[in-house]
Amino acid sequence: MSFPVLISWNTVFEQAGWTVGHCSHCGQLTAVRVDNAVEVVRIYLYPVHRRAMGQVARCDFCERPIRLQRSVPTIGLSEWSPPEGLTALFDTLPPFNEIRPPDRPTTKRLRSLLSAAREAASFYKVNIGDISISLAVGAVLGGVLAALIGMSLFDAKLVHDPIDRFVTLCVVIGLAVGASSAGIIAAVFQRVRTAFDKINTACANYEIDVGRLDELSADYGKVIQQAIQRVRDTTDLGA
Ligand SMILES: [Zn+2]
Repeated sequence: MSFPVLISWNTVFEQAGWTVGHCSHCGQLTAVRVDNAVEVVRIYLYPVHRRAMGQVARCDFCERPIRLQRSVPTIGLSEWSPPEGLTALFDTLPPFNEIRPPDRPTTKRLRSLLSAAREAASFYKVNIGDISISLAVGAVLGGVLAALIGMSLFDAKLVHDPIDRFVTLCVVIGLAVGASSAGIIAAVFQRVRTAFDKINTACANYEIDVGRLDELSADYGKVIQQAIQRVRDTTDLGA
């Protein structure tokens, strides 16, 4: 008897440190996370090989990629954290210690966060794996309900097809309608959760006026507005 050997490759990002860089979306110098990109080969989910792929940098506020100059100074991961404030980071990294960053995120920056959250929560980025249980439950419920309706219609003598052919057709339609309906609902929840996670992380790390964020969210659609309402509810519960 032979067994299949499952081999997978994927790239993981391991945060290595901090630096300062200019985010064109936020329109200012900001804290930048520097991550090591590592290719990991797994056999049956067990890592057997790691290969360094280089470094990638992201704006810590909107999480968009940033191109850094080779000579930029960096500090270790444990040497700074966002709640300490941008000034503390700038002070540790000459020549940025000569620059005073804004105390609070500017309107441009808040808009950058909202547009980044909207991009991350795009319908096209919904992970099918994350909504697979909803799809399966929706398909089963839709199939069972359609079978019951089909048999009721047959019992009421409203259809004259053979019962097995008619009920099979009802079940197929029920599976499709149930799965797609549940999938659409689950995708909306998934999108709100993705946007919430991104905005809530920024609110936890930076002094964001959530009321101002709420005002601006009118330009970014219902998913972002619902995510901000969840952030407000979470903030109120924590207060
Ligand atoms: Zn940014």
